[in-house]
Amino acid sequence: MEQRGTLRTRLRIRLFLNRHGVAARAECAINRRSYVMMRAGGCLCGGVRFETKGKLNPPIACHCSQCARTSGNFAVMSSCHSEDLTLTSAETLAWFQSSENVQRGFCQRCGGNIFWKMQSGSETYVAAGTLDQPTGLKLAGHIFVGSKSDFYELTDDLPQKQEW
Ligand SMILES: [Zn+2]
Ligand SMILES: [Zn+2]
Repeated sequence: MEQRGTLRTRLRIRLFLNRHGVAARAECAINRRSYVMMRAGGCLCGGVRFETKGKLNPPIACHCSQCARTSGNFAVMSSCHSEDLTLTSAETLAWFQSSENVQRGFCQRCGGNIFWKMQSGSETYVAAGTLDQPTGLKLAGHIFVGSKSDFYELTDDLPQKQEW
C-alpha cells in the first residue's frame, strides 16, 4: 500500500514520507530548512540495500591502508547505532574479518565496500558514498592521515588525525 505523501504538524514542519510510509525528511515551513530523518542506501548492483533511522554521525575520511585496499581510495564512513540500521536486502552481503575485532561488509557480486564494524562495538559505519542522495551530511575530518598514499593531497581545512 502506497503511503507516500506529506503530513502537516502544528509546528509547521512538513514530514515527507517514503514509500514505506516512514518519515524520511522534515522541512520547516518557516525557514525552509530540510532535515533528513531516515536514509537509505546500497551497493551498485542492489544486492545489498539498507535503511538507517535516527542520527548518522558526520562522515570521516579514513586514509588507512585497509580502507585503500577495499575501496581503491580513502573510505568516507558515517556511523550509526547498529540497531538503527536495517538491511532491506542482504542477498549478496558478505563479511570479511579484516582485523581481530573488525568486520567489513561488502557486496560479493559488485564488490561494493559498504559496512565496517567492531565486533565488540554497538555502532556500524556505513560508506557514505553508498547512501542515496541527498544525504544531508558533511565531511567532518580525516583519520589515519599518516598512512595515506602519496598520489593525493589533503587540501581542505578539516581536522586531521594521525590515527583515530
Ligand atoms: Zn552489489
Ligand atoms: Zn580505514
